[in-house]
Amino acid sequence: MIHPAQLIQRKRDGGELSADELRELVLGYAREEIPDYQLAAFCMAVYFRGLTSSETYALTEAMIASGETIDLGAALGRRVVDKHSTGGVGDKTSLAVGPIVAACGVPFGKMSGRGLGHTGGTLDKLESIPGFRVELSRDEFVEQVRTVGLAIVGQTADLVPADKKLYALRDVTATVDNVSLIAASIMSKKIAAGADAIVLDVKVGDGAFMKTAADAAILAETMLDLGRRAGREVVCMLTDMDQPLGSAVGNALELREAVATLNGAGPKDFGELVLDASARLLALSDLGVDVAGGRRLAEEAVANGSARSTYERWIDAQGGDPAESALPRAPVVAQVEAPHAGYVARLGATAVGLAALRLGAGRRTKDDAIDHAVGVVCRRKRGDEVAAGEVLAEVHARDERTAAEAVRVVLGAYELADEPPPQRPLVLEVLA
Ligand code: URA
Repeated sequence: MIHPAQLIQRKRDGGELSADELRELVLGYAREEIPDYQLAAFCMAVYFRGLTSSETYALTEAMIASGETIDLGAALGRRVVDKHSTGGVGDKTSLAVGPIVAACGVPFGKMSGRGLGHTGGTLDKLESIPGFRVELSRDEFVEQVRTVGLAIVGQTADLVPADKKLYALRDVTATVDNVSLIAASIMSKKIAAGADAIVLDVKVGDGAFMKTAADAAILAETMLDLGRRAGREVVCMLTDMDQPLGSAVGNALELREAVATLNGAGPKDFGELVLDASARLLALSDLGVDVAGGRRLAEEAVANGSARSTYERWIDAQGGDPAESALPRAPVVAQVEAPHAGYVARLGATAVGLAALRLGAGRRTKDDAIDHAVGVVCRRKRGDEVAAGEVLAEVHARDERTAAEAVRVVLGAYELADEPPPQRPLVLEVLA
């Protein structure tokens, strides 16, 4: 029998907990035998004192042990790959990567989340498609990956239930942004969902959890270590989230952009990240290709239309209408114009995300309803030269009042300068 108060005290004073102690703490919490207030105090102690790598792994294992796991690889008789992004603004990468990877013959089964605050969630984007079902049973999920090659669903309630409870608690106790807690939370879900190999996209910058490349590299190394200890192959990309990814921010707008990318007509930065992530996933698969070979396959899948037709089969299989005309459109479109000529020196991802949130594209609290049609399309991005009065961005809104408000916020996200800013690559580093 552990005494939670003693464990909290030991962690508060900088001591180390054993794997058994962490397991009992987490499982006791999941079974509702240990109250929220003790786990809240524990998370705060971890926030200030950190966890060793052994403790972080023990926490991850304990969270996995709180629920069921899926062995997708065994069910399909294939090596299964998965991808995860730590979240940002305009990040619709999985919507395009999934169909490309599946079109290349590699099964892609992914459990995704919803957005909160200024960041979006893959499930919300998919739900802008009329009829699309994100809640498949475990058997339906496995069967769809087997027959269609691709499924993206909400996390089932019995997969890592301890993380669901703990993440909600961290969200209201200012203990989300700790590297060990984030790494254990993300990797417990990835490992429990059964992927053999995982590509992690750790976002860096204004719109991301990790504001600096140095902090992002620490998170990446922690997740790589957890993957290694769990016998999974992990590759970690560190990518820029100082400005929104691609142009569109907002659910149906992002879905359209993902489809345009599958047609080879998406924004350059987003298209590049999609091909790079797809290539890395294919290189980790059982196809026996390296990253350059994966890249060629991914490019071919876009060029020959197989990625687009896989997208249509996937959406249809989950009950949605894949036609672009089925996606909702906002009734009001307002333009954000450059007040003077110059170069876009900065386009703040958080400010654009908050503008989309205020339009109704995101949720402030977990239970808020969202408006799938609204959002922002950034027509000009960092480094672009603009003339006075040129359109920087479009705001898609429900009414004129919210449109005018969002135009002000988006204009504030743009900084124009006389000189072009220094170049910042989209992919900052790749760790494996
Ligand atoms: N995403 C997660 O799933 N967990 C965290 O703790 C942070 C981001």
